[in-house]
Amino acid sequence: MKNKDNSKICIMIIPHTEKVKRITIPKWVPKVIITAIAIVVTVTLVFFNNMSSSEIELKEEYNNKITELSNLEKEYENKQKELEKLKSQNLELYEITNEVKNKLVEIDKLQRQLEKMAGIKSSSRGNIIRKINPEKLDPEKEMEVSKELLEDKEKELEIFIQDLEERFEYLESIPDLWPAEGELTSTFGNRKNPFGKGTQFHQGIDINNSSGTDVKAAAKGIVVFSGDKAGYGKVIIIDHGNDYSTLYGHNKKLLVNVGDKVEKGQVIAKMGNTGRSTGPHLHFEIHKSGNPINPLEVLK
Ligand SMILES: [Zn+2]
Repeated sequence: MKNKDNSKICIMIIPHTEKVKRITIPKWVPKVIITAIAIVVTVTLVFFNNMSSSEIELKEEYNNKITELSNLEKEYENKQKELEKLKSQNLELYEITNEVKNKLVEIDKLQRQLEKMAGIKSSSRGNIIRKINPEKLDPEKEMEVSKELLEDKEKELEIFIQDLEERFEYLESIPDLWPAEGELTSTFGNRKNPFGKGTQFHQGIDINNSSGTDVKAAAKGIVVFSGDKAGYGKVIIIDHGNDYSTLYGHNKKLLVNVGDKVEKGQVIAKMGNTGRSTGPHLHFEIHKSGNPINPLEVLK
């Protein structure tokens, strides 16, 4: 009974009008209700707490996003600046490559002029006149192309200079320099014999001037004869290579010896009247492949 009383609670409801109502409930019920309420409150509190922490998280996330966004903006600005810089660099590059090409065209023109002057045709030239479109400019490619063009031109110029040097070397060996100043008194070919009757073949030209006038080498070469020759008096013969040789006769004094290397225009003798001569003059002959040729066709 006591146990039974302890385990139950009696609730009496006493209204004013009606009969008293009596409800009997087990004693553990209110405890459960209180516990339930406590749980609900706790859950609610936790829930609210969680809500506010998630709100903070959200706010933090938002702030982060804002920071990220401003960073992105800065990055974009930097990129924009970089782009501008690249653009100006591109333009600079375009100007440089164009400059390179213009210079190459100028060199090409000069080369052609030199070729014309020297009377040679150098090895084939590359096609360097290529228009470039700045909008389609690929900096690396353009640099590569410019580099290749310059390298090609360098090789080409090396060959050209070699060709020119060979040409100048050849021209230096052509006996086209007048060997003495003076008056041309006799030309190449048949002429009246100055020492007798009839005609004789004159193998060269005569240049008259006073005794002691400088006699110069008509081209560079090697002295192959320096001495007396019947009729010619004191004579110098120079071998110029390329099948050319020259003879200088009737000299008063010889200034070079056999084996000497002489330059074009070098004084090799003094004009005189030695040998069969009617007065101080230079008898000058040019031989090509061993045969005398008309010096006036060679002299400039
Ligand atoms: Zn003569």
